[in-house]
Amino acid sequence: MLFASDLDRTLIYSDRFLKEDHVTIKAVEQGGYTSYMTLRAAELVQFIAAQILFVPCTTRTIEQYQRIQFFQNEVSLKYVVASNGGNLLINGAVDQTYRQKIDRELRQNCLPTDDLIKEFSKITTSGWIEQIKEADQLFFYCLIDRSKTPFDELRCFDNWAAKQNWQVSTQGRKLYLVPKVVNKWAAVKEILNRTGEREVFAAGDSLLDLQMLNGASYSFCPQHGELYDRYRQTSNEMALRFTDSPGITAAEEILTAVIRWTDSTPDPAMKPESKKEGSRFKEGSTVQS
Ligand SMILES: [Mg+2]
Repeated sequence: MLFASDLDRTLIYSDRFLKEDHVTIKAVEQGGYTSYMTLRAAELVQFIAAQILFVPCTTRTIEQYQRIQFFQNEVSLKYVVASNGGNLLINGAVDQTYRQKIDRELRQNCLPTDDLIKEFSKITTSGWIEQIKEADQLFFYCLIDRSKTPFDELRCFDNWAAKQNWQVSTQGRKLYLVPKVVNKWAAVKEILNRTGEREVFAAGDSLLDLQMLNGASYSFCPQHGELYDRYRQTSNEMALRFTDSPGITAAEEILTAVIRWTDSTPDPAMKPESKKEGSRFKEGSTVQS
């Protein structure tokens, strides 16, 4: 059994989410950027990691992931998926065999980055983005001003990029440009191959988690974020299940469901296959406004 979970806005949260003053929280990342979990969620993560294979699956770069002291010091982890699936860490070290495979697939299947950025620059002339940064030589991200973002133009770019095997994701003020071969599910499948594990419970809140959520045996998403927004925009036609609560306490719901799952009576509604195949949400469609 393997629990594969996104981190930011799924298990850990920035201070913008700390509105619920009835919950006890702990800082899990301190320094230039601080993020939090509820104390209960932190305890549940430690409990789960001691029972089954828990694999954090984050879009953060390796360096950004390493800033989360909780996962460095308070949870025992063998595998970590970083860089949105572009890097697989085993006992803290980058697995070079996996990385070389990803680099090879990138060269073979996706438009070269220079060409993608050149096309993207055509819609970034009106000052709605800050400096574009490259993440672990795999993908790009930048901060955006949503009030100035030309979402129609971005939608057109997204459609074009999808044909070049790139994906666009907007999460709050962050916009990501990610090659499709760099995805969390590819890394989780690699772990499944290596460990012989078969059953996966996945959790995540963004389009960059969707392939993993659809590929897993069971999935659960917070009632907030990019996927939940899309769920509401598409008349609820998504084969995903969302928590009852939005915000930081969604993590506790997800983790409690994982424990129920390990106790062997999973809720069938969490199984993607139990939903109508035709209604499954497709990635790479449009960018939300
Ligand atoms: Mg997230």
